[in-house]
Amino acid sequence: MSDFKTMGQQFGRRSWAEPWKIKMVEPIHMITREAREKAAAEAGYNTFLLRSEDVYIDLLTDSGTSAMSDRQWAGMMMGDEAYAGSRNFYNLENAIQTYYGYKHIIPTHQGRGAEHLISQAIIKKGDYIPGNMYFTTTRLHQELAGGTFVDVIIDEAHDPTDPHLFKGNVDIDKVKDLVKKVGAENIPYVSLAGTVNMAGGQPVSMQNARELKAYCDSQGIAVYLDATRMYENAFFIQEREEGYADKSIAEILLEFCSYTDGAWMSAKKDNLVNIGGWLAVNDAKVAEQARTMVVVYEGLHTYGGMAGRDMEALAIGIAEGVQDDHVASRVRQVRYLGKLLLDWNIPIVQPVGGHAIFVDAKRFYPHIPQDQFPSQTLAAQLYLDSGVRTMERGVVSAGRNPETGEHRYPALELTRFTIPRRVYTQAHMDVVAESLKAVYDQRESTKGLKMVYEPEYLRFFQARFALLD
Ligand SMILES: *Cc1c(COP(=O)(O)O)cnc(C)c1O
Repeated sequence: MSDFKTMGQQFGRRSWAEPWKIKMVEPIHMITREAREKAAAEAGYNTFLLRSEDVYIDLLTDSGTSAMSDRQWAGMMMGDEAYAGSRNFYNLENAIQTYYGYKHIIPTHQGRGAEHLISQAIIKKGDYIPGNMYFTTTRLHQELAGGTFVDVIIDEAHDPTDPHLFKGNVDIDKVKDLVKKVGAENIPYVSLAGTVNMAGGQPVSMQNARELKAYCDSQGIAVYLDATRMYENAFFIQEREEGYADKSIAEILLEFCSYTDGAWMSAKKDNLVNIGGWLAVNDAKVAEQARTMVVVYEGLHTYGGMAGRDMEALAIGIAEGVQDDHVASRVRQVRYLGKLLLDWNIPIVQPVGGHAIFVDAKRFYPHIPQDQFPSQTLAAQLYLDSGVRTMERGVVSAGRNPETGEHRYPALELTRFTIPRRVYTQAHMDVVAESLKAVYDQRESTKGLKMVYEPEYLRFFQARFALLD
């Protein structure tokens, strides 16, 4: 292991630094207040509808926004664009088998492509899918396949102030209760995510994964992993769980995955590429079903919607993203921003998670009721202040209950500040923190929003709002 890990601890005053230097830059600038007001109104106060050119610092998502390395760009030049059997596919397959340990690999255009395949392959109508908190696209694919998602995350995860170190853990008693209620034969798998995006990037412990697998094996239920941010989850295990301090992130990842039957992946996150995804399973029959479908929805089973060059950059990104110094600097940058906000007593989800800061909009704007969209309001106000783009993770993202048609009111009403990997510096984080402080200082006079357009699916992407006055 490199000196990097212990450096800061040996010398109390020494800082960490990014394990890379900058070779190419992309100019950015802040447009005027007047122009931001116009852009926000035209976007219906939905940050998803802003033009990127009108954004100064873009913390909308860490999805597909990573900077690739010189090696990945070199890999792009080595694309084998054969329709079938591209060399790059075999490099990708090898990287996933090496680092994640699964047997059968099916490439997809991005994470939701893989979610679609696995959901259609193993969910039958009327099934129940327990999971450690929902994720938007994951749950939608489970529902479209005829399943009902049941949240089995520990209660602590729903409390943004609870200091639990593994707030992503599954409450196995909740899984047992569901088995008693609906029968193991109606539960094809547990949908396990590490880290848990919607809970604030919170990790699952190794012990929890091990115990979950043992219980599920006893019931004939599979465990499938949303591996999107498992590198970051492995970092938290290394840092917090007894017995893992001297293991590498790669070793921890491999052990964790061994407690699951397969995984789907949005490679646009941990795997350091701008587009891509994959499904990996150990069961040959499930693999065969997924391969039958991938040719219908994504592309041939040796490219799944990606170009050869994309698969090469992905294979290299898998190996780069799992390095200890990379993951540590990534998580520490997120923490740096978190600490600035906590110093000003701005309410954020704690402990700070792996990929983002989540501001608790219910405590930020206690006077704005949830049906006036406090976290959407915060994202809009921040953009107006400085051109910083964030996103809503609250009542808009939660959507409507398909049976009653009512808004779902999640306990967590959050605005997410997602940090792209290897893209921004600490100075950018300072600017973001200071802008949020300015918005915080004006909170009492800020009013909420009303929704004026609502699409049928995943409404947070395209809904439009107006200012209340
Ligand atoms: C992004 C994401 C997905 C979906 O992946 P896409 O590549 O955006 O289709 C699934 N699960 C989690 C946890 C994610 O963050």
